[in-house]
Amino acid sequence: MTPTQILKQYFGYDQFREGQAGLIEALTHGKDALGVMPTGAGKSLCYQVPAMLLPGVTLVISPLISLMRDQVQALVANGIPAAFINSSLSEAQFSRAMENARNGQYKIIYIAPERLLAPSMLDLAVTLQISLIAVDEAHCISQWGQDFRPSYLDIPRFVERLPVRPVLASFTATATPRVREDILATLKMHAPLTTVTGFDRPNLYFEVKQPKGKYAALAQYLSENDGNGIVYCATRKEVERVAERLVADGYSAARYHAGLPEQERSQSQDDFLYDRAKIIVATNAFGMGIDKSNVRFVIHYNMPQNVESYYQEAGRAGRDGLPSDCILFYARKDINTALFLINQSDHPDEISRNKQLLNKMERYCETDGCLRQYMLQYFGEQGAEDCGSCGNCNGNFVETDATIDAQKVLSHIIRLNKAGKRFMFTHTADILLGKSDDFTDLPTFGLMKGVPRHYIRQLVQRLKVLGYLENDDYLRAAPKARDVLLGSARVTVRGAKPKGSAKSKQSKAPKYAVSEGLFSKLKQLRLDIAREEKVPAFVVFSDATLVNMCQKHPRTEEELLTVSGVGQVKLERYGARFLELFCGEEPETAPSENSLELTPEQIMQQVEIIDEALQISRIADHINAVLLRHGKAKISGQKLNQLLLEAGYLEVVDGVKLPTESGQAIGIVTVERHSERGDYTQCLFGAAAQRVCVGLAAGSP
Ligand code: ADP
Ligand code: MG
Ligand code: ZN
Repeated sequence: MTPTQILKQYFGYDQFREGQAGLIEALTHGKDALGVMPTGAGKSLCYQVPAMLLPGVTLVISPLISLMRDQVQALVANGIPAAFINSSLSEAQFSRAMENARNGQYKIIYIAPERLLAPSMLDLAVTLQISLIAVDEAHCISQWGQDFRPSYLDIPRFVERLPVRPVLASFTATATPRVREDILATLKMHAPLTTVTGFDRPNLYFEVKQPKGKYAALAQYLSENDGNGIVYCATRKEVERVAERLVADGYSAARYHAGLPEQERSQSQDDFLYDRAKIIVATNAFGMGIDKSNVRFVIHYNMPQNVESYYQEAGRAGRDGLPSDCILFYARKDINTALFLINQSDHPDEISRNKQLLNKMERYCETDGCLRQYMLQYFGEQGAEDCGSCGNCNGNFVETDATIDAQKVLSHIIRLNKAGKRFMFTHTADILLGKSDDFTDLPTFGLMKGVPRHYIRQLVQRLKVLGYLENDDYLRAAPKARDVLLGSARVTVRGAKPKGSAKSKQSKAPKYAVSEGLFSKLKQLRLDIAREEKVPAFVVFSDATLVNMCQKHPRTEEELLTVSGVGQVKLERYGARFLELFCGEEPETAPSENSLELTPEQIMQQVEIIDEALQISRIADHINAVLLRHGKAKISGQKLNQLLLEAGYLEVVDGVKLPTESGQAIGIVTVERHSERGDYTQCLFGAAAQRVCVGLAAGSP
C-alpha cells in the first residue's frame, strides 16, 4: 500500500497536511527525521503511517500516560493494533501486553521513557523487530526546554542496547534552535530530515480583552458559546474560586491544579476528556499531553508568564482544525502576580531572563497591532500583513489621541526627575492630581486635577510600551520623550469600542455552516457510542468529521466513506448507526433559498431571547444572526435605539437616552458605566424588552 492509501483506509483522510508526506517518505525509506510542527498539525500520523508500512513494530516514546491511552484508543478505533506499556498497567495487564508484543500482535507500542531500561523491557526489545522509534514531545530531552524530563536521556542508551539500530524520528511543537540542536545531538540522529512547518494556526481566533469584571466576561462568553473549553488561571486559588462560581452558576466545570490529590486530578482530566465536564478550570499544570481534539476555546483568566507558554496553552484549542477561540483576559494586576511567581526563583539570571520574557507577553496584551502577526514574529516567522481575523484586526477598540495628556504626564515626570526624584506610580499621580502634600510648588502640581486615576495609569503604561518612559517601577522619562513634548510624536490610547460598533467576529451566525439541530443529533449519537465503548467522544469521530458529515449528508456507505475522518474500520463499526440517522433527515437546504419569504413572525421566533439584561448591541447581534442566515441586511444598535425612541420606549433627557415609563414597564433598566473616557449611563434590556426590540426590527423595512 502507499502512504496515501493507508491515510484513507485507516484514518479516513484524503490528503496529507503540510510536512506530513515528506516526513513519512523519509522514515519509510530508512532516514531519520525531526518534525517541528505546531500543535494540531498532525505529528502523530507522521509515525503512525510509516508504522503500517514498515515491517515489525514501531515504538513510540511519549511522556504522559494519559496521552498514550488516548492515542492507543484512537488507533484501535481505526483498526490499527496498538498497545501501551506504562505504570498504569496492572501486573496481569503488563504480562499480557508483553506476551502479545512478543507474538508480534502490535504494529505500534507506546512506552513511557522511565520503562525503557527496565530489564523486562530490554529483554523484550531484543526479541522484537523494531523498525522505527518515534520520540514524541521530543523537547523534553533538552534542559533548555520548559519540560525537561531526565528519563528522556535514557532513550539514546536504550537505542544503543538494540541489536539493530532502528530509524529514529522525533517530533515537537515548540523548539527554539537551541532545543532543536539538543534533540538532534542527544538522540544521536543520523543526517536527519528536519521539517519545520509554519507556526500559524489559521483556525484559531486570538483576542485580548481587558474586562472590568473578569468573571462577568467569562460568564458572558460561556453564555454565547457552546462547546468544550479550558479556562487557565495563574494560581491554584484562582482556579478554586472560578471553578466554584461556575459550578454555582450551573456550568459543568471541573478543576485541576497540582495542589489537588492525584485522584481528583485524574478524575477531572477524565471528566473533561470524556465530555462529562464541558469546562476545565486549571493552572498550567494541566495540558501537556491533552490530545482532546474538540476543545473549542481556551480562555486565559490571567496573563501567562511568557509568549511560549501562552501559545502552547492556547494552541490546545482547535486541534481538529475547526474554528476555535483563544481569548486572554488581561488586567494590570496580572503582571504583579506574574512578577511574584518569577521572583520565587533563587537564580538572579533566571529571574532577569523571565522578566524579559514577561515583558514580551505584556506587549502582546498591550499591542494594538495584529495579534497573530505579533506571535508569529515572536517565533521568528515573518507573517503576512494583518490577519484580519484576530480581535485587534477586527477592531475591538478605538484609538483616541492623548498627546496633550501625554505631554502633561511626561513633563511632570521630567520635572520630578530633574529634582532628583523617581517615584512609583501612586505618588507621581498624587502630585499630578493635586492630592499630595509634597511638591505643591512644582508647576505640574494638580495639573490633571479631576482626571480619573486609571486614565493616568493607562497613559503611563502606554508611554512605557511606546518607549517614552523607561520600563521600570520608578518612573523615569526616556530620551525619546522629547519627541512627544516637542509635538513631533503623537500618542494614542485605546479604549474599548462601544460593543456592537465593532466588527465583531461573533456575528453569531452558527459557527460552522451546518444546521445546529442535525449537528447536535450527531453529537448525541457519538456520545452514546463513546459511552458504550468507554472511550472519549473524539475517539469515535472528531468534531470536524461530524461537521463534514452534516455537509455531505451521506445516504450510502460509499458516500459516508468520502467524509473526512471515516476510514474502513469506523465505517464498519459505526456506519449503519450514522446512516440511519441521516435517512430520517431531510437534506439541508441552503440558507439563502428561503431568505425572501422570511416573515416578521419567523424572525421573532428564531431570534434568541436571553433571560438577562443585555446591551442593545447584543440584541442587535442576536437579531443579525437570524437576518444574516437568511441573507438579509443587518440592523445596527443605533437603528434599534432609534426605533425604540420612535415607539416611545426611550427618551432623550439632557443628551442621555433613558427608558420612559412604558420602557420601564417592559423591563428596560439603566446602569452606570465607567470607561477611560468618563462615566456614562447605559440602558439594558430584559427578556420582555428584547422581544419588543425584535418585533420593532422585524416590522421595520
Ligand atoms: P499534533 O500531535 O501535531 O498536535 P495530532 O497528531 O494529535 O497533532 O493531530 C491533530 C488532529 O489532526 C487529529 O485529530 C488528527 O486526526 C488530525 N489530522 C492529522 N493529519 C490529518 C490529515 N492529513 N487530514 C485531516 N486530519 C488530520
Ligand atoms: Mg501530538
Ligand atoms: Zn490579526
